[in-house]
Amino acid sequence: MSLALGSLFTFDNSYVRDLGELCVPWEAAPAPEPSLVVLNDALAAELGVDAEVLRTPEGVAVLTGNARPDGAASVAMAYAGHQFGGYVPRLGDGRALLLGEVLDTRGQRRDLHLKGSGRTPFARGGDGKAPLGPMLREYVIGEAMYGLGIPTTRALAVVGTGEQVVRDRMEPGAVLTRVAASHIRVGTFQFAAATRDTDLLRRLADHAIARHHPAAAEADNPYLALYTSVVEAQAELLARWMLVGFVHGVMNTDNMTISGETIDYGPCAFMDVYDPATVFSSIDHGGRYAYGNQPAVAQWNLARFAEALLPLLHEDTDAAIKAATEVLLSFGDRYDRHRRAGMHAKLGLADGAGEDSALVDDLLALLQERKVDFTSFFRALARAAAGDPEPVRALVGEGVDAWAERWRAQLPARPGSETAEAMDRVNPIYVPRNHLVDEALTAAVAGDRGPWDRLLEVLARPFEERPGLEAYALPAPPSFGSFRTFCGT
Ligand code: AMP
Ligand code: MG
Repeated sequence: MSLALGSLFTFDNSYVRDLGELCVPWEAAPAPEPSLVVLNDALAAELGVDAEVLRTPEGVAVLTGNARPDGAASVAMAYAGHQFGGYVPRLGDGRALLLGEVLDTRGQRRDLHLKGSGRTPFARGGDGKAPLGPMLREYVIGEAMYGLGIPTTRALAVVGTGEQVVRDRMEPGAVLTRVAASHIRVGTFQFAAATRDTDLLRRLADHAIARHHPAAAEADNPYLALYTSVVEAQAELLARWMLVGFVHGVMNTDNMTISGETIDYGPCAFMDVYDPATVFSSIDHGGRYAYGNQPAVAQWNLARFAEALLPLLHEDTDAAIKAATEVLLSFGDRYDRHRRAGMHAKLGLADGAGEDSALVDDLLALLQERKVDFTSFFRALARAAAGDPEPVRALVGEGVDAWAERWRAQLPARPGSETAEAMDRVNPIYVPRNHLVDEALTAAVAGDRGPWDRLLEVLARPFEERPGLEAYALPAPPSFGSFRTFCGT
């Protein structure tokens, strides 16, 4: 295909340049009948890309990998990873390609990555394809996370391939274009470490430092500083997830980024009723990735990251282990600090100052016992701050009064309406509730994009209550039953 697309993306592929050994040049499978399903205009603008050009047949061909614009890399990236605790030495992009890196309008380097673009040498038993439903799911959840202000990869587009893919049943195939600060994962470091080529591992670490944690380069031990920065970024990310009731669902080490962005929206979902044991993924039988386990799993993954980094941390292995362990053990305090600050904001409390330390724990115990919808509770509590205790009573029951009295005693001295406004700025009223996402995806896959478009619009401004959107703020009706997500996406 002729490419008058030189102006579309200006690629600068630093990863391939620095770390060619960790990539395999590869071509996308042909998409027989590509058609644009959705394009993220706001993200295109952020990337400095002409959305109208992306909408042309040539643009759509780029978004399936079937036309390669000048300067594109088009490689499958190698990585390893612990999946549900078991080490897999060779995972890699089995159905994805790194198209290349672009500098966005703020000068930030972003990866463009195609998911569902066909089998690669890393495909193992997989078909290399992706069904439309799960790709639209990744799109909408990523946008919801972005709306919530949580670091995340985002989707630029979803393109139908015109092909059917085989899952439980036949489904339309699609390719998602994912935009990420990078696709460097803990599993990328595990892969590099397993080669025993310390020079390669060092180049990967140097690349990650330059790209994501540049301050580490100035430290006495830049690699220990890199490790510390990632531990801090993940501690903050995990706190952000927990504060909105997000359950990632497949926190394997290959799904944990070095940048601190959330990645890989497969079986993830938002918790409705507060319960630390909440699991949605149909294959997570042991509850390894349950809501309440997520911080501990993140720390476990970061231990695997430390193991991969050891050769860089100190020439003496014992000294390397000692240094890494100290940082790893700081995860708990870092996480607690972010979570505590976030919880205090959710409750309208001033950060820090002399609060009742059991206030948060007692609240969560109450929410769990009374099976209260996590998202609704904090919005209802803001009404109580503003002078109306009824909504929160209706949710929790009168048993909330004693707790609310303690909470009131901790509130800063300011008008209740101000406290309520501050709470509403951090407590979303709209999250991608499972029944809404399900309904929107079912309609979209059947050809009716209306509900999906509306959901996307609602989730773009999750803190701002808007008339007419009452149904989006409600938990699932009992008829929705218990929700399961599937990994075979
Ligand atoms: P994920 O569960 O999406 O994080 O993927 C884990 C691994 O399985 C990665 O190496 C993926 O590239 C690979 N994978 C997932 N689905 C497919 C598929 N349909 N075809 C080939 N590889 C896949
Ligand atoms: Mg993955």
